[in-house]
Amino acid sequence: MSITPLMPVYPRCDVRPVRGEHCHLISEDGRRFLDFASGIAVNLLGHSHEGLIGAIQRQAATLMHVSNLYGSPQGERLAKRLVDLTFADTVFFTNSGAEAVECAIKTARAYHSHAGNEQKYELITFKNAFHGRTMATISASNQEKMHHGFLPLLQGFKYVEFDDLEAAKSAIGPNTAGFMVEPIQGEGGIRVGSDAFIKGLRDLADEHDLMLIFDEVQCGVARAGTLYAYEQYGVTPDIMATAKGIGGGFPMGACLATEKAARGMGIGSHGSTYGGNPLAMAAGEAVLDVVADESFLAEVRAKGERIRARLEQFIGNYPELFELVRGRGLMIGLKMRSESRPFVAHMRDNHGLLTVAAGDNTVRIIPPLVIDDSHIEEFMDKLSAAAASYVAP
Ligand SMILES: *Cc1c(COP(=O)(O)O)cnc(C)c1O
Repeated sequence: MSITPLMPVYPRCDVRPVRGEHCHLISEDGRRFLDFASGIAVNLLGHSHEGLIGAIQRQAATLMHVSNLYGSPQGERLAKRLVDLTFADTVFFTNSGAEAVECAIKTARAYHSHAGNEQKYELITFKNAFHGRTMATISASNQEKMHHGFLPLLQGFKYVEFDDLEAAKSAIGPNTAGFMVEPIQGEGGIRVGSDAFIKGLRDLADEHDLMLIFDEVQCGVARAGTLYAYEQYGVTPDIMATAKGIGGGFPMGACLATEKAARGMGIGSHGSTYGGNPLAMAAGEAVLDVVADESFLAEVRAKGERIRARLEQFIGNYPELFELVRGRGLMIGLKMRSESRPFVAHMRDNHGLLTVAAGDNTVRIIPPLVIDDSHIEEFMDKLSAAAASYVAP
């Protein structure tokens, strides 16, 4: 037998974290890393946040799980808070981002089917998008490396260029149900959708009675400096998927929708055994207690601006290595002149700095939102040392 007990689907590196201390990770062999990866935009509050730990411990000791067959005071409370804080009128809780996107896709299809328009099932999605790894969510992305070996895909997705409003408009046809877009592409390389593009999609959706779905699984929950990224565009979606940071490390997600968009989602239309269980709800509330606060959000924006300004200055010293800096809040992309993966590995292995590689030669800088100036200094020191000692392969 040569297959590993853990199904070998990840190219795992030899950092083996066993403990987290605020914004640092400690590996099995005792090495200490500055964590500007946050479990891919998940650990918003860092690794040892007392409020989050306490909330999970208390809830685990009180009631960990019950079925959605029963009333949920815990779920009602968190759903009400999300409804009050966002465009949405209703929330379905999930265990992951892909499930939140699945619910969004079903909600959009059901919206049209409810009105007798079963032919309107197709979502227009965008190139280099990432929506998850389930069959529907890989089908929603044009990235062939995720399709390989898993055909046939689910029908009903049409891919067009990201940030190209004309392409989106031309793709509308009799089968179109709506658009699904990451306002800021994460895996695609921290590519920020322009105002004209995002607003234009809203206008097209209104004009043609289409659903506008925002996948804010990565850019949502304060990451981009507002509770949700859409706030920065001055438009609202009809449906939104959120996950990653929402539980601060506890696995959960949510699909939010307006009353109108959710008109097809009646009794029996959807479900999840774990979705919205009391333990997840306790984690979600503890995260919101911290991040749904205007002064906290202003801090995220200010810290993001500080890092971006430092990076702008820094890349001037290495024009042959780095091309540009982009992003919003603490969702920052450092675009390199060549593949980012080897540089991410070099920072990790030789300088104790964790970041995440993304598409378009981009290094993703996605620290916990609770970093302070000392972490920014440590980050710049490690990054500078890494750039100085880097030999591109
Ligand atoms: C990570 C991600 C997903 C999938 O989330 P999982 O929790 O891994 O299922 C979906 N959409 C976007 C934008 C993501 O970044």
